[in-house]
Amino acid sequence: MYPEFAADAQRDRDNPAAEEFLKQVKESTEHADTFREAAHRFGLLKFIENYHADRYAEALEVLNGGQTATRVAGEDAKTRKWICKKCSMIYDPVAGDPDSGIAPGTPFEEIPDDWECPICGASKKTFKPFEEKVAA
Ligand code: FE
Repeated sequence: MYPEFAADAQRDRDNPAAEEFLKQVKESTEHADTFREAAHRFGLLKFIENYHADRYAEALEVLNGGQTATRVAGEDAKTRKWICKKCSMIYDPVAGDPDSGIAPGTPFEEIPDDWECPICGASKKTFKPFEEKVAA
């Protein structure tokens, strides 16, 4: 709506109003970018929270006399996930990290050494192979 308001103000030769509306266009665009980035990060957090919920459920099972779940890392680099030891962000090579220029299908080993965790900024060295629960 701001571009239309700006055009109206320009037609009315109200330059201060036109300038204000154009400023609002710029600010709204910046806010939209911020919200898009936040939405993306929340999307990544979903996997982290699911992982934590899974680990707590397993711990509860053990407290109730159950067995510790067996966890193993995948063997195929093209599908093996890696987890950030600092924040639990899970790198999935199938999805890659397009926001950081890592194309889908990129094995963790092929990511440049200066890549950083998109959630907490930890270095690539902070990641370890993600061990997934083996179905009993
Ligand atoms: Fe992290």
